[in-house]
Amino acid sequence: MKYVGAHVSAAGGVFNAPLNAKAIGAKAFALFTKNQRQWKAKPLDEETISLFKKNLDEAEILPKHVLPHDSYLINLGHPEIEKREKSLDAFIDELQRCEQLGLDRLNYHPGSHLKKISTKECLEYISNSMNTALKQTNGVKLVIENTAGQGSNLGFKFEHLAYLIENSIDKDRVGVCIDTCHMFTAGYDIRTREAYDKTWQEFDDIIGFQYLMGMHINDSKPDLGSHVDRHDSLGEGKIGLDAFRFLMNDERMDDIPLVLETIDDSIWAEEIKLLYSFVA
Ligand SMILES: [Zn+2]
Ligand SMILES: [Zn+2]
Repeated sequence: MKYVGAHVSAAGGVFNAPLNAKAIGAKAFALFTKNQRQWKAKPLDEETISLFKKNLDEAEILPKHVLPHDSYLINLGHPEIEKREKSLDAFIDELQRCEQLGLDRLNYHPGSHLKKISTKECLEYISNSMNTALKQTNGVKLVIENTAGQGSNLGFKFEHLAYLIENSIDKDRVGVCIDTCHMFTAGYDIRTREAYDKTWQEFDDIIGFQYLMGMHINDSKPDLGSHVDRHDSLGEGKIGLDAFRFLMNDERMDDIPLVLETIDDSIWAEEIKLLYSFVA
């Protein structure tokens, strides 16, 4: 069974997110548990936490179908130690917020070398940051997102994600989130049956489906291999609807959050319906 939703607003409080998801017919959702453009946030209070859990119940969505996303400011592979440590502190805080909310996974972008250090060095920094975070938190899984490879962002090759899993001190607490737009603009084609099968075979060979803990379902404005991160509404971009039809009938994507981050939130309810209509 597929669990489709969208990255909904948590404006006014995290407890609003489940209700926003329910309103568009979502069976899964993503949210920011704090303002994604600020370093600091006030801690979650008991009332907020219990209201979030109550609303999640009311929306009939399970914690494992919620995929929180961390702040855009965090760079676990930052070349400068002070900024890397600041990122790690914020990352640990994000993991603890998820734990408080009863959620079991946190989605994040691996990091950027900012053209100051090598890919290898940056991946090592990210890996070290992840391991410290694993030691200092409990239960919540670290779900690394693949990227388009725009600028100096790492994570655009399956090998980058595999490296981070491989070097993790607790493989039961790491996983990946695959964004279809990022995958496509990073050079992995999924537009035809043949291309779709080949790309996911490569994913399974290099990373493994046991690590797939969520997906971002986006069409892409830029072309295959362009390394530009710009999402589009389903069927409006360069990927086209077939890829999403294959995906909705692929049992390897069962029981994980499938989250729309498409550009027009006024049609999310329709896009969710469209995806479910593909199920044969
Ligand atoms: Zn994404
Ligand atoms: Zn993106």
